[in-house]
Amino acid sequence: MTAVSDIEKINKYSRRELKENEVYTFTLTLCDNDIDRDFESFSPSALEELKTLFVGKTGIFDHSMKSADQKARIFETMVEKVQGEVTRTGEQLYRLKARAYMLNTEENKALIDEIEGGIKKEVSVSCSMGSAVCSICGKDRKTQRCEHINGKRYGGKLCYTVLSRAGDAYEFSFVAVPAQRGAGVTKAFETREVSALTDIIEKIHTEGGKLELSDVQVKQLSAYIDSLEEEAKLGEEYKKELCTEVEGLLALRLPGVERKLFKSVVSVMTVSELLGFKKGLENTAESAEIQLAPAQSKAAHDYSQFRI
Ligand SMILES: [Zn+2]
Repeated sequence: MTAVSDIEKINKYSRRELKENEVYTFTLTLCDNDIDRDFESFSPSALEELKTLFVGKTGIFDHSMKSADQKARIFETMVEKVQGEVTRTGEQLYRLKARAYMLNTEENKALIDEIEGGIKKEVSVSCSMGSAVCSICGKDRKTQRCEHINGKRYGGKLCYTVLSRAGDAYEFSFVAVPAQRGAGVTKAFETREVSALTDIIEKIHTEGGKLELSDVQVKQLSAYIDSLEEEAKLGEEYKKELCTEVEGLLALRLPGVERKLFKSVVSVMTVSELLGFKKGLENTAESAEIQLAPAQSKAAHDYSQFRI
């Protein structure tokens, strides 16, 4: 039943030249862009990236299958626009489909029968994704924390994670007990990726100059550095604002002191010192409205503790 072109494609990935009658081919859906049971979805562009990455990757049927011959291998992938079907959020539904082959041997007969009979039709994919964005706040959960919880609604809007920037695809596997899992796709990448960043940072601390990182890890690390830089920039801006504010408060409380002196004093303060100052000066200002004279002397006293 296999077309000539199929066997040519298959032979690009097989260890030895295979003949048409030696292989069994089948089509499967690897994943789509709908929100799944874990409240995660692949972006349509991620499906395109996975399409390339999954070609040549193998599939396993369950963990007891150790023989290499019992594996299926993907030889062709495609993203299918599913006409008339939309995702939970009302966007066009796309499916990443794959064509796979396995050896048409006596050993595989039972498996082939199961695929033919539609029993083993649920598939889980294992891959690494470069970004996992919160649908509510847009933060990338790979590198930033956010307070939203998948599956909850915020102002009527469902919170879920959009996975994109596929780093690598590892394998697919047929879920052994589809009846207990409901329809859909499960993903196995969480366990591989969830602590990846912590692993990289630990590696940096322990391995020093001998550090070796994969492409995916380098990408993750660079995304993390970007987010730190952004946070640092925000922190700087915040500190600058705080400096100006404290400087203004000091000038207000101590009108007799030259303004430029405050500027040089606040410039060497840490954020917590500035915050302490701000709080103290504001409290003083409040009580000063009630009892003007004592508050003013209190401000001068507080300030003397920090005089450099
Ligand atoms: Zn969020």
